Amino acid sequence: MGQGGAPARTAFVTLVTNADYAMGAVALARSLLKTGTTADIVVLHTGAVDSQALAPLVTLGCRLVEVAHLPLSEPFNERHARRNLHGAAPFTKGRKPDFHTPLDNFCKLRLWQLTEYTRCVFIDADAIVLKNIDRLFDYPEFSAAPNVYESLADFHRLNSGVFVARPSLATFEAMLVALDEPDRFWRRTDQSFLETFFPEWHGLPVFMNMLQYVWFNLPDLWDWKSIAILHYQYEKPWERDHPKSSELKPLIDLWHDVYAGRDVDPASLPQPPGRP
Ligand code: UDP
Ligand code: MN
Repeated sequence: MGQGGAPARTAFVTLVTNADYAMGAVALARSLLKTGTTADIVVLHTGAVDSQALAPLVTLGCRLVEVAHLPLSEPFNERHARRNLHGAAPFTKGRKPDFHTPLDNFCKLRLWQLTEYTRCVFIDADAIVLKNIDRLFDYPEFSAAPNVYESLADFHRLNSGVFVARPSLATFEAMLVALDEPDRFWRRTDQSFLETFFPEWHGLPVFMNMLQYVWFNLPDLWDWKSIAILHYQYEKPWERDHPKSSELKPLIDLWHDVYAGRDVDPASLPQPPGRP
């Protein structure tokens, strides 16, 4: 039950600000529908995405919600512009595609405005779901999985590619104030912000947001039977060629199968290199 005895309404929510991420969202939506979920699938999109790129999402039955960028100060936008952010806080572990605009990430916070839902699960458009994850709606705000892709130290930080939240206009307003304090710089954009805004965040199992670099950095952690959400952080599986495409080939092939609507049995997938 939701507030006031009304039935709980739940949604999976993603964000799309250009045609590339719309492609990602198509694969995500297809993968979610395969799990048999009855929750809504909401695609937040900016006006910059043309209707052709959004059309397949409409066909899949997604609810499209147009959003504007957040009303942030000019200095904030300047500090978080791609060239400035990449200069002040360079990415040393992997590479971001040219179509990634850091400032767009903050639009994720619009999820808190979706007060018609009692619980939302946000999922990045560069992720796919491999099994039913409806039980995530029973987790409290704010829940996220650790940002694990290199070492044990990664468990200190969360990854904002998957999180559980309770929409609330009061929370949204409080976020806008905290976000744009003078001279605030969020080196990993919404991720750094959410970690700070929810210092007592609840941990989701790592399999709820398995990052693709685990495949080659921490192969012992890889377990196809347990992985519920596979997240292609850094390089994207639909980029024609990227520096890690041969290393990640089995994961990229899987993404293309999901995107094309082909059935894949995770049990048939190979083990990471170096694993029997
Ligand atoms: N996003 C977007 N346009 C952008 C940047 C980000 O639509 O220019 C959305 C999209 O849902 C994406 C998420 O924000 O999946 C976070 O960005 P990304 O997944 O590229 O970051 P990473 O997971 O590599 O840190
Ligand atoms: Mn992502």
